[in-house]
Amino acid sequence: MKKVVVKDLSFEILIPGEEIKARLAEIGREVSARFEGEELVLLGVLNGSFIVLADLAREIDLPLSVEFLRISSYTGTSTTGEVKSLLGLTGELEDKHVLIVEDIVDTGISMKYLLSELSKHKPKSLQIATLLFKKEAFRFNYALDYVGFEIPNKFVVGYGLDYDGFGRNLPDLYQLSKT
Ligand code: 5GP
Repeated sequence: MKKVVVKDLSFEILIPGEEIKARLAEIGREVSARFEGEELVLLGVLNGSFIVLADLAREIDLPLSVEFLRISSYTGTSTTGEVKSLLGLTGELEDKHVLIVEDIVDTGISMKYLLSELSKHKPKSLQIATLLFKKEAFRFNYALDYVGFEIPNKFVVGYGLDYDGFGRNLPDLYQLSKT
């Protein structure tokens, strides 16, 4: 089995890059059909989504613009707890079809926050595409419109996802190995 070491941890292959590309091509065709005759904004969530977005964008046959944003989290005072904010959103989303592109939805907390913040911009539609979905960890019931792969509740790296900043450039997806 294909293995890799990222920093101090060993990982084993979960999904080969070729399979990921093929699945993103399918999703690209679905998205193109869904929004036929319309314009679309692809909205990538940094850092993890940069590779997925680059691959998916090239599989979508529509007039397309691309935006990126970042969710910053910091701990506020003891009374406010964790505070999140959106950074980097420059384009106008009002009355546009917006497709959020994520690398992974785990508990779903980040996406829940994004959905509530982005709806304030009054997009014409707001959909979600995520390469990976940890169904067992998901705590909500909002719809994920396009899911690449459901994966077990294990830590993964590669294809844009990092371990402590490294491993994003691995062309395949790896999961933490037991050994
Ligand atoms: P959430 O729990 O809010 O759905 O996910 C928050 C963030 O945790 C994701 O956007 C992603 O950055 C990170 N994350 C969750 N699971 C994994 C994982 O298995 N590997 C990596 N590298 N990041 C993860």
